[in-house]
Amino acid sequence: AIKTVDDNYFGSYSSFGIHREMLGDKVRTDAYRDAILGNPSLLSGAAVLDVGCGTGILSLFAAKAGASRVVAVDGSAKMASVATQVAKNNGLLHDENVKREQKQGAQVINVVHTKAEELIQKILVPQNGFDVLVSEWMGYCLLYESMLSSVLYARDHFLKPGGAILPDTATILGAGFGKGGTSLPFWENVYGFDMSCIGKEVTSTSARFPVVDVVASQDIVTETAVLHSFDLATMKESEMDFTASFELRLSESGTVVPGVTWCYGIVLWFDTGFTDRFCKEKPVVLSTSPFSTPTHWSQTIFTFEEPIAMVKEESTLGSSASVGTDGCPATMLKSRISIVRAFEHRSIDISVETTAF
Ligand code: SAH
Repeated sequence: AIKTVDDNYFGSYSSFGIHREMLGDKVRTDAYRDAILGNPSLLSGAAVLDVGCGTGILSLFAAKAGASRVVAVDGSAKMASVATQVAKNNGLLHDENVKREQKQGAQVINVVHTKAEELIQKILVPQNGFDVLVSEWMGYCLLYESMLSSVLYARDHFLKPGGAILPDTATILGAGFGKGGTSLPFWENVYGFDMSCIGKEVTSTSARFPVVDVVASQDIVTETAVLHSFDLATMKESEMDFTASFELRLSESGTVVPGVTWCYGIVLWFDTGFTDRFCKEKPVVLSTSPFSTPTHWSQTIFTFEEPIAMVKEESTLGSSASVGTDGCPATMLKSRISIVRAFEHRSIDISVETTAF
């Protein structure tokens, strides 16, 4: 048989390593735990849909938070069977043979092996829809994998009107980084030898292809710009393809050394919010920023072909500060970043154009 994109996609989720990485990402898993367990007025007695349950962790949290019913779906057969076993071993799996009245309250989880989009044919969705939809769908640079479209489909078909979606906001942000954000310093001195030619080759490759890696906060040289904010409760799928235009100026911390600061590229990251719209008792932010504890998403790095010299707008630099032959250092970068879905929506193409002013 020929493997489809979906076979390969769900196949990749069937290995435990990736689930170990996600569960072990404390920033990520704590955020979901806090949002689910910290908001009893939302979860208590609620009918919850877990889109892409994996090991079932979010469903287990929901059951623990007092949900009256949890439907956990996963497109991976392996993960659906694992989640079933885990829920059972924790006394949380729904048991058909036990009448509702006789149940000890906790057996609320139903695991269904299905793509979220095909759920309706397989199980009964509560009459008016679920009260809460929870999902961890975020990919690198937020949209890589584009699982979000499945979540939006589930929202539109299975969530009751006005129902809660967790998380309910997502924002893509970006900033310029200095030399330390590249691998150049590493290659310049390898056990005392100059391997900078390798560094240059690596940098020119990553000018064409983004690199997923951690950028340290001290390597950020510009202010942070918001590229795009998604309202997950209302957004349409078409919004996943977008172009953002934004300006970047040197930040205070990026100019501790007076004079010219070199910007080597732009780093993107995302935050997701469990805001007080639905999480009234305990709003939570899950941030993958270079200024926060690193997560398994790291950041997404775009290197320029050539670094750009920048100065603070108000700085009074003499003509001696001009760089190279093409004049003065820039006070501002104008960037246009387009993100569009590609490869049957399982990946994204990102294009970055930056001009210095
Ligand atoms: N909720 C788990 C797993 C998140 S990873 C946790 O937080 O740890 C995303 C999971 O969603 C994977 O197990 C993947 O197989 C599943 N998935 C992705 N797209 C899906 C879809 N359209 N329908 C059902 N499951 C999907």
